[in-house]
Amino acid sequence: MLPVLAEHWGSASSVHAMGAQARAWLERAREQVAGMAGCEPDEVYFTSGATEALNWAVKVAGLGDAHVPRGIVASPIEHEATLAACRWVAGKGAPLQWMQVGADGRARPDEVDRRCLAGVGLVVLMAANNETGCVQPLDQAVRLARDAGALLLVDAVQSAPWGLAPFRGSGADLLALSAHKFNGPQGVGALLIRRGTEFTSLLHGGGQEQGLRAGTPNTASAVGMGAAAAQVEARRRSAGAVAALRDGLQALLSASIEGVTLTAPGSPRLPGHLHISVRGVQGEAVVVGLSQMGVCASSGAACSSGAVEVSHVLKVMGVSEEQGRGAVRFTLGPETTADDVDRTVRAMAEVVAELRSLGGRGTG
Ligand code: PLP
Repeated sequence: MLPVLAEHWGSASSVHAMGAQARAWLERAREQVAGMAGCEPDEVYFTSGATEALNWAVKVAGLGDAHVPRGIVASPIEHEATLAACRWVAGKGAPLQWMQVGADGRARPDEVDRRCLAGVGLVVLMAANNETGCVQPLDQAVRLARDAGALLLVDAVQSAPWGLAPFRGSGADLLALSAHKFNGPQGVGALLIRRGTEFTSLLHGGGQEQGLRAGTPNTASAVGMGAAAAQVEARRRSAGAVAALRDGLQALLSASIEGVTLTAPGSPRLPGHLHISVRGVQGEAVVVGLSQMGVCASSGAACSSGAVEVSHVLKVMGVSEEQGRGAVRFTLGPETTADDVDRTVRAMAEVVAELRSLGGRGTG
């Protein structure tokens, strides 16, 4: 990225030599992303991230060419970018149906009533959930989309870094990626559009990205995404080792802290995800305490104006209010070490003990 930013900053849309150089880099990056995602380079459309890719896919497929609202069937555990875009399209008159979700953290596309599919233009299911890490039944979503005669949109933001749900062979027509989930830069992603799929632009202007996504391409970021994509194979090879470290973390946390519950035990999950709930404490408070000890984690709960809301994902799974409030998520990657795991367990034990000693004050 640095040479592109510092020296070779021509616009990939220009015909002059600097433009041609930028274009060559952009196209190389497209090939690298295609190689990682298992598709053809001309199926890769760079965007500003997965939020844009998901909005593009949902709004165009949901509204249709003539802006005659079509129906959408989506899982309610999608990322907020998808959920908000679906609600927006529904506000324009498109019927919106939600899939059921089990306590196992997995959506149930097979249980959608086939008699209610008339006019449905889009089925949406993520390949793996970003909070729980639960891998979703994409084969069922493919069947549902086929039965409905609809396009299938897959959010592969979390799964692609681990090699799950490659585009080719997955049955998806549209697939969203985000570079920063596999060590690329933030603010760049892609929508993959299966060849032959009728699709239109969300952003209108110049004819960039095969006429489907207007605007001077962010060549440096695309180059960064391409470089990260080219290295993703090594990350994927580390999946077994990462899962073993994650399992070790889970076992140590359970052994050293009372009242630790694993979310959706037994469900297939991403190698680096560990989602737990700690009895009697608030996830947000745990995350703040951990951060002070140099450990970065997440809570499933979003805190706004002092009120802690249990995440929409845990709610539809039927997780109790108390368990939802105590949610903490750890994500491990190829760079995580056994020492990191030990440090995290020690920090967790200390933070939880302190919060419990505060009684009601730390438990929200
Ligand atoms: N989808 C999932 C599953 C995610 O985890 C994220 C980001 O965390 C997004 C979409 C949004 O991606 P971006 O930050 O690139 O807009």
